[in-house]
Amino acid sequence: MKWQRGYQSSNVEDRRGSGGGRMPGGRLGLGAIVILLILSVVFKRDFLSLAGGMSGDAPTAGGSGEVVSTPAEDSAKQFVSFVLDDAQQTWTAIFSSNNATYTDARLILFRDGVQSACGFAESATGPFYCPGDSQVYIDLGFYDELRERFGAPGDFAEAYVLAHEIGHHVQRLTGAEAEVRRAQQRDPARANQYSVALELQADCYAGVWASSAQSRGLLDVGDVEEGLGAAAAVGDDRIQRMGGGYVNPDAFTHGSAADRTASFKRGLESGDPGSCELQR
Ligand SMILES: [Zn+2]
Repeated sequence: MKWQRGYQSSNVEDRRGSGGGRMPGGRLGLGAIVILLILSVVFKRDFLSLAGGMSGDAPTAGGSGEVVSTPAEDSAKQFVSFVLDDAQQTWTAIFSSNNATYTDARLILFRDGVQSACGFAESATGPFYCPGDSQVYIDLGFYDELRERFGAPGDFAEAYVLAHEIGHHVQRLTGAEAEVRRAQQRDPARANQYSVALELQADCYAGVWASSAQSRGLLDVGDVEEGLGAAAAVGDDRIQRMGGGYVNPDAFTHGSAADRTASFKRGLESGDPGSCELQR
């Protein structure tokens, strides 16, 4: 995919330095605290708060902790920043051509775990969208997993995952998400089926963005296949763990690989979100 290296987005919040928002000193044992206190006395520097800053004593002050990032992670951050803004600009244009207003979602980068309006999430949860705070959460380490465990390499596979999450934000804005939640409460026996419908629509929306990116010459040869590969690889059997009793949309089955691929393709080929109606 063609993208601007060094890209930064004002909608990206880097919480990788805040250690999962755990309690102050949560990762320090008593022995470590004693040693840090002794060091502080000897060197007349506050080692305890220095260590606390790294282990996350500011759960809500996102990005205040020191972010230690490899060049590869820096590049991944720039890439997701570019894709986020590109996808949201695409949706802003689509909404305005339908006399509707698109409001941006924010992207939170985290490591290990993160506190969201939807509860505490571990990295093992995978990327997710929280309707409660309109934020997408990604641990960049997921992309290594996507490559290694799910065998879906390539930058466009990574872009697809983010575009899918933005698809969930679109569903919040259109009211589809709320509509499905109500339907699930009315008919709990079909709750999972409704969730699958929501997931497939988000795949279709990811395809709508891909269509726009393609028409603007951003795609390289093989990118569509990478996106389709990711659509098929991610989801279905991912083990989801979520704290706080929140039901994460992505914790449900996403539908079969064939369904996911077909949905992505539908959006890609039509470029029209109208082709992405909820399948119920
Ligand atoms: Zn999803």
